Amino acid sequence: MPLDDPTYRFCPRCATPLGWRAEMEDGGEKLRLRCPACDWTHWNNPTPVLAAVVEVGGKVLLARNAAWAGRVFALITGFMEAGETPQEGITREVKEETNLDVTELKLIGVYDFQRMNQVIIAFHAVAEGTVKLSPELLEYKLLDPADVKCWPAGTGYALAEWLRARGHEPEFFDPFAATRAAQEGAGS
Ligand SMILES: [Zn+2]
Repeated sequence: MPLDDPTYRFCPRCATPLGWRAEMEDGGEKLRLRCPACDWTHWNNPTPVLAAVVEVGGKVLLARNAAWAGRVFALITGFMEAGETPQEGITREVKEETNLDVTELKLIGVYDFQRMNQVIIAFHAVAEGTVKLSPELLEYKLLDPADVKCWPAGTGYALAEWLRARGHEPEFFDPFAATRAAQEGAGS
């Protein structure tokens, strides 16, 4: 049985409680949250997330999000808005989060991030200006590409691919290993 999705309990169209129901679709029988009254279906498609390896003055900018536990630095990311292209979206996110102006954009690749039901569209963004972080971000680091370490998840793979293309063999680390070890220690 699938886990109950906390996002939707009622039909957004007619407010009837949703239920799990199997139905034949193009790809075969599929169990989904569906509305028994009006047939609305919760498709639960992945959400596109934009990410950028921001390069400013030859260095890579990594930032720490206020919402994350631990001192973890990552790429600039944000959700795509209706009515914009991925390129416009990541240019807007970089400006909103760092105050930098993107002067050059190149797609690195597209990556799944199934744990969050997201698909990551990752760019290399060359940017200029003065860094001024949004309240969402607590601090940032500017690193030489050779010193950047990658994490084994969605945006970390994008960063690794970018580094590899520049001739740096990426080194991986697990940013949550310490937290997890502490939790496992406390739980046993
Ligand atoms: Zn309904």
